Amino acid sequence: MICVTLGRTRHKMVIAEHRALAEEGAELVELRLDWLKHTPDLHRLLVDRPTPVIVTCRRAAETGKWRADEDQRLTLLRQAIVLGADYVDLEVDIANQIRRYGDTRRIISYHNFKETPDDLEEIYADMLQLDGDYFKLATMANTPEDNVRMLRLVSEADRPTIGFCMGELGVPSRILCGKYGSPWTYATFSSERVLAPGQLSFEEMQDVYHYDEINAETRVFGVLGDPVGHSYSPLLHNAAFRHEGLNCVYLPLRVPRDVLLPTLKEFENLEIEGYSVTIPHKQHVLEYARYPDESVRDCGAANTLYKNPQGKWAATNTDYGAALQALRDGLKRRNPDDPELEGKKVLLLGAGGAAKAIGLGVVRAGAGLAVANRTNKRGKEFAEHLNCQYINWENRGTVLADILINCTPVGMYPNMDDTPFPQHWLRDGMLVFDTIYNPETTLLLKQAREHECFTISGLEMFVLQAADQFECFVNQPAPVDVMRETLRRGISPVRLN
Ligand code: NAP
Repeated sequence: MICVTLGRTRHKMVIAEHRALAEEGAELVELRLDWLKHTPDLHRLLVDRPTPVIVTCRRAAETGKWRADEDQRLTLLRQAIVLGADYVDLEVDIANQIRRYGDTRRIISYHNFKETPDDLEEIYADMLQLDGDYFKLATMANTPEDNVRMLRLVSEADRPTIGFCMGELGVPSRILCGKYGSPWTYATFSSERVLAPGQLSFEEMQDVYHYDEINAETRVFGVLGDPVGHSYSPLLHNAAFRHEGLNCVYLPLRVPRDVLLPTLKEFENLEIEGYSVTIPHKQHVLEYARYPDESVRDCGAANTLYKNPQGKWAATNTDYGAALQALRDGLKRRNPDDPELEGKKVLLLGAGGAAKAIGLGVVRAGAGLAVANRTNKRGKEFAEHLNCQYINWENRGTVLADILINCTPVGMYPNMDDTPFPQHWLRDGMLVFDTIYNPETTLLLKQAREHECFTISGLEMFVLQAADQFECFVNQPAPVDVMRETLRRGISPVRLN
C-alpha cells in the first residue's frame, strides 16, 4: 500500500487534495497537521474522510513545521484518537504520554535526518517495548549500503514495521520496502511537493514502479550511476516488464564512484539480478564482472551487468550494437541497395565514452573514420587508438563525409538552440546521426532535414540498447515499440494528449 503524505497550509486545500487522491486510488493518506497555518480543525479534516488517514504532527526536530507548544501538539494527537482517526503517528519519546483509546492504531516512529545509525537494531528493539501497532523507521542514507541494512531489519521484523531510508541514496528502499514486508511506503502528492528527502510522487510510485504489485517474488534490476535522478531507464524498463506481464521492478541506484565495488557486494543481499551501467561506472564495473563479452573487451567499458545461466556476473556493451543497428537502419532508409557501412566516410564528433563504442564499431565495419574533438589531446589519442584520421575541431566542416555522428552533448536539453555542426557545413544526402535523445529532434537533426539529409535520433539508439539489456535481463525479446513510445511520452509529456 502507498500512503500519500499531504501537507498544505489551508484546510480547504487538504480536503480537496484528499478527495482527489481518493479518486486516483489512494488507500491511505497521512495528514500533516504541522503544515496548517491556523490551528488544526480535526473534526473538519476527519469527518467524511474519503480514505483512512494517519494523523501526524511533526516538530521542528523532525524537520516538521510545528512551532507551537508541545502540550498543544499532544492534545491534538489525543483529540485525533478520540475522533477516531484510523492511525496516529507517535514519535518514540511521546508514545508513553498518549494513551491507547478506541480503534485508532498507533504508529511508533523514529526519524533520523542525519544518518542510518550503527545501533539501528538496538533503537528498534527499544521501540518494540512501546505500545504500538506499527513501527516506523525513517533514516537518512549516507551510503547505498544503508538501504540493505534497513531492508534487512524490515524483513526480519516480527511486528508490522515500515522501514526505509531517506535522501536520494535511499530511494531503492522506499520502492523495495514492500517486498520485504513493510505494510506501506510513503509518497508525496506531486513531485513538486516533496515533504521528506528522496520521497517519490504517488504517480511515480503507481505508474512507473507499480509499487502495489511488488511482492516477495519480484525480481529486481536497476541502473547504476551517479547521478541517476534524471535517467529514463526506470521508465523504459518498468514499462517493458509490465507490458510483458513480468514480476520485475527496475530501480534508480545512485552509487558514488568511490563505493561502487563494496556496494555491488552489499547489493547481493537484495538479490539484484541485472544492472544498466552509466556514468561514471562503465569501466570500473568491469572489476566486478568475470565474464566480459567481445563488445566489452573491444570498448573497454560495459553498460550492462547481468547474471549468466550459471548465476555469474557477465558484462556486455549494448551501446555498441545499438548504435551500429541504428546506423544500418538509417543507411537502409537512405538507399536500400547500399545499407552497409563499408567504404563510407564517417565524421565522428567527440571522443568520450559513446564515441569510443561507436567509433570502434564504424572502423570494424570497414568505414573510413575521421574524428574531431573539442580537446585536441584527447581527440588525437582516441584517433591514434583507432588508427584513424584526426581533424581539429575548427576544421570539422572541411571533411566530405557521407555520415556525420554527434557524440557530444551539444544541443541536449536544456541547451536546445546549440548545434555541434553549423548548418552551412551540412551536405545534401548526408546521413546525420545525433546520439542525443533528449530532445528527440535536436537542432542538428532539424537543420539536417532541411538539407534533405537522412537522420537518426539518439532516441532510437537509446531504445535499442535498452531493449538488448532487457533481453540479457530476462532472456526474452523486448517490446521495442512499447519502449520507444514510453520514452517519447516521457521526454515530451505534451505528446500524451
Ligand atoms: P563523455 O564521455 O563525457 O564525452 C563527451 C564528449 O563531448 C567529449 O568528447 C567532450 O569533449 C565533448 N564535449 C562536451 N561538451 C562539449 C562542447 N560544449 N563542445 C564540444 N564538445 C563537447 O560523454 P558520453 O558518454 O560519450 O556521451 C556523449 C553524448 O552521447 C551525450 O550527449 C549522451 O546523451 C549521448 N549518448 C547517447 C546514448 C544513447 O543511447 N542515445 C548513449 C550514450 C551516450 P572534450 O574531450 O573536449 O571534453
